[in-house]
Amino acid sequence: MIINGILLKASLELFGEIMCGIVGCILKEKKAAPVLLECVRRLEYRGYDSVGIATSSSGINIKKDSGKIDEVQERLQLDDLPGKMGIAHVRWATHGLPTRENSHPHTDCYNKLALVHNGIIENYQELKDQLQEEGHHFSSDTDTEVIAHLVEKQMSKGMDLEDALRLVIHQIKGSYALAVIHVDYPNIIIGARKESPLILGVGDGDYFLASDVPAILEETNRIIYLDDEDLFVMKNDGIIVKDSQGRVKENEIDVISWSPEMAQKGGYDHFMIKEIHEQPEVVRNTLSELHEIKKTVENFSDFKRVCFVACGTSFHASMVGKYLFEELVGIPVDLALASEFEFSAGALTDDTLVIFITQSGETADTMKALEMAKEKAETLAIVNVMGSRATREADYVIYTRAGPEIGVAATKTYVSQLTCIYLLAACMVGDEKLLDELKKVPDYMKTALEKEELIKEISPHYKDVTDFFFIGRGFSYPTAMEGALKLKEITYIHGEGFAAGELKHGPLALISDDVPVVAVVPPGKSHDRTMGNVKEVKARGARVICLGSQNDVNLRSEAHYMIEFEDQISEVLSPLIYVVPLQLLAYYISVERDINPDQPKNLAKCVTVV
Ligand code: GLU
Repeated sequence: MIINGILLKASLELFGEIMCGIVGCILKEKKAAPVLLECVRRLEYRGYDSVGIATSSSGINIKKDSGKIDEVQERLQLDDLPGKMGIAHVRWATHGLPTRENSHPHTDCYNKLALVHNGIIENYQELKDQLQEEGHHFSSDTDTEVIAHLVEKQMSKGMDLEDALRLVIHQIKGSYALAVIHVDYPNIIIGARKESPLILGVGDGDYFLASDVPAILEETNRIIYLDDEDLFVMKNDGIIVKDSQGRVKENEIDVISWSPEMAQKGGYDHFMIKEIHEQPEVVRNTLSELHEIKKTVENFSDFKRVCFVACGTSFHASMVGKYLFEELVGIPVDLALASEFEFSAGALTDDTLVIFITQSGETADTMKALEMAKEKAETLAIVNVMGSRATREADYVIYTRAGPEIGVAATKTYVSQLTCIYLLAACMVGDEKLLDELKKVPDYMKTALEKEELIKEISPHYKDVTDFFFIGRGFSYPTAMEGALKLKEITYIHGEGFAAGELKHGPLALISDDVPVVAVVPPGKSHDRTMGNVKEVKARGARVICLGSQNDVNLRSEAHYMIEFEDQISEVLSPLIYVVPLQLLAYYISVERDINPDQPKNLAKCVTVV
């Protein structure tokens, strides 16, 4: 597609961005490096650990390091690189620690090309093994670097850059937004995307690429959205977009009317709702950890007990872990709140695997407990942030691959923690059926997200209540707890989650017609008894929001509002999917109450005090 004179249209396209970001530009007059530096600064809000720039001008020039952009700029003067075209990256490590060597851009064996990549290459290990056998020399531990060597390999056989890249993107599996420059093609940036966002920008004789609109909004508001598997060739006189088969496409240019702040949130009003919508993709990414988890499990000693240690939302993931491990793996499981761990750690035995769940890998309570446990037992950390303290201290590490989470209330990191726990349990007992079922979760989640309109409609009715109850049994008890926690955190309404069977032992005294009850009632073992509890609270005047199967006519007849899910979703898997509408409910009530759900009062994203 040649871009001059194509239809301009105002639009608001929504898309998720999970990992960190790339940018690139070919400029008519200005030097590229200072502009690239400004562009990556505008991606800083996403969280990152390293930064790097490569430009092309009689050869490839690269500056990169781990650290904050300002620190690295001070050390290396990133903006002092020659040339009017280049690419840049802010990294959020997924494979390989946040170090200089692992920072992007990456190169081939002879520094003829430089490449930035955003996403995860799932089959990188087998590709790397093969390339190393063929004599390629790797300089980093990243998954990304295989792309550079694969392109090098094809070009050494005589292919041109575009054909080589097209072939390589058929060899790699996973997600990518990538951009490449090459010494033999001094006027070209070439790139492609699949499942990681990538947009192009058209200025006045200047051309840009970026992971998202805010990075380049100050330079231009004329944006081309790329479809999955598109490949582009950018030159100083235009951009051509082609599909995966090499056919030229006619992508339109959209004129963006967002404010920079809206653009950062991908067009959503808040990061939290953006992150809720990212969940199907996050689960898909986490599922790609299967091989790593299998390897971890092979190294486990023969332990007899498991103990989960966590705080807050991660604790609710641990609760699901308890039910799952006991039912599936048949092993006794203890649960400990990290802040309480020291009071029971004395009885820890060396035949126990202690599993720590922490989004940041820095949570002070969890770290303190990890230090204590290490002295006595084997430890495993389930963590989102690569290179964080927990990943250095624990014997084994599993990464959740949720990407940076900006909203303080955890959403996508919760479902990614759950996904890791399911993968872990399935690998421990070789449960192929569960592994197959897990593959369906992203689609089930997408259907659950379709309940957004209903939830938006009902939320105003709950904006002035003072108490909310959430009930569930077995696998649905943690979901009830998590629904209540989300509500508390971002609406400041008192919410409590109960094991439904416990109501009669006390909480029932608090039920009245002004206390809404949310009942989590998936089909399965717990169903009939929770139904009994729904009737109990109804008899005391409560109006019940019921979450259950679309085929559950009995439940629907008891419900004040019914939130329906596909009937095939088993009770065991339900925590991953049933939590989605509860996150949405808390979010929309928060918005109704004029609260900023991204920054609830008195709370911090990473709690570094004990
Ligand atoms: N997987 C790549 C890495 O770990 C890219 C990460 C990113 O998107 O920032 O280097």
